[in-house]
Amino acid sequence: MLFDPRPKERRGEMFDREVELEAILRGMGEYPITLIIGIRRVGKSSLLKAALNEYPGIGLYLDARRLYAAGSGSISAPVMTDELRRILLGRGRFGFLRGMSVEKVNLGGIQIKPRDMGFMDVLEIINGIGERTGHKVILAFDEAQYLRFYGSRGGKDLLAGIAHAYDSMPNLSFVFTGSEVGLLHDFLGLDDYSSPLYGRIYEEVEVRPFPRELSEEFLRVGFSEVGLNVPQDDIKRAVDELDGIPGWLVEFGFNYWKKGDPKKALETTIAKARNMIREELLELERRSPRYALILRAVSIGLHRWSKIKDYVEAKSGPITNARLGSLIRNLEKMGWIKKENGEYLIVDPVVEKVLRE
Ligand code: ADP
Ligand code: MG
Repeated sequence: MLFDPRPKERRGEMFDREVELEAILRGMGEYPITLIIGIRRVGKSSLLKAALNEYPGIGLYLDARRLYAAGSGSISAPVMTDELRRILLGRGRFGFLRGMSVEKVNLGGIQIKPRDMGFMDVLEIINGIGERTGHKVILAFDEAQYLRFYGSRGGKDLLAGIAHAYDSMPNLSFVFTGSEVGLLHDFLGLDDYSSPLYGRIYEEVEVRPFPRELSEEFLRVGFSEVGLNVPQDDIKRAVDELDGIPGWLVEFGFNYWKKGDPKKALETTIAKARNMIREELLELERRSPRYALILRAVSIGLHRWSKIKDYVEAKSGPITNARLGSLIRNLEKMGWIKKENGEYLIVDPVVEKVLRE
């Protein structure tokens, strides 16, 4: 059902996205690294899960944001290896680890007890599983920009491990998704000379909001699935307000289905969005309270640098151009704002509405 608010897990549950799904599957098969990028709620996790489900070999899914939240602000090496071991053991029950114990593994004659197992040891095991099964194992990190909180060196230790795997473990491939696209690129450093991953080849699949026509079609198909005949005007108006971000379309469709009233459905959607976005904003504000001020400035129509600066200074005192510049650049990298023709704009119209209140 399209209006099911959880991430989709199979191709059949998804609207459109054939092209993206094929590109991801091709990336998984042919590239050691595949990136899936796009703004929040556009459908990255759904696509990743659907692709992992169709991938002919074994795919392991980890949510880096969850690991980060569980570790209250960082991801420790033991937490990462424990999570990987837990997933492997869980999957092992279904048979693919037959004859291969993760509890006690023999690596080149050395017995390693789980307690001593490091990230590299686990990668070796996974690579070994790939070799046995005849398909590369996919290690997929959702919201991978959070991996920069791995260990104490901005995730460098993890990157070094991944670089080593890239170079010497042919039966293992990585997929990274990221909502904070610039941060993900900065972290992985595939184009950054000083990064362990510099120069490695990778496939990048961008997931975009649906264009107008497809957004309306999305709602029409969703409504017809739940047996509702919804006037075309209501559908058009909803897309005017919500744009083509599937997460919001699903939310709206679900609310309309439950309440049978377009106005109420839209209100409920915005209210729900407010709660979801509030948490994200709090996380931003912990990094710098000025992020919220800048976002608010842009949302109320101050699109130019000088206007934003006036607003921020009026609210929180003087700020240097260098500091403001770095905050604005970060907001761009995190996918909150974009720059078009010298003007800053909020990327997601629903976020803009919430900010404006
Ligand atoms: P992201 O990981 O990019 O934040 P999700 O995959 O979690 O996005 O999707 C957000 C919401 O939108 C979920 O409710 C999901 O079910 C829905 N969704 C995303 N893409 C599609 C699609 N192609 N068809 C149907 N529902 C979708
Ligand atoms: Mg996601």
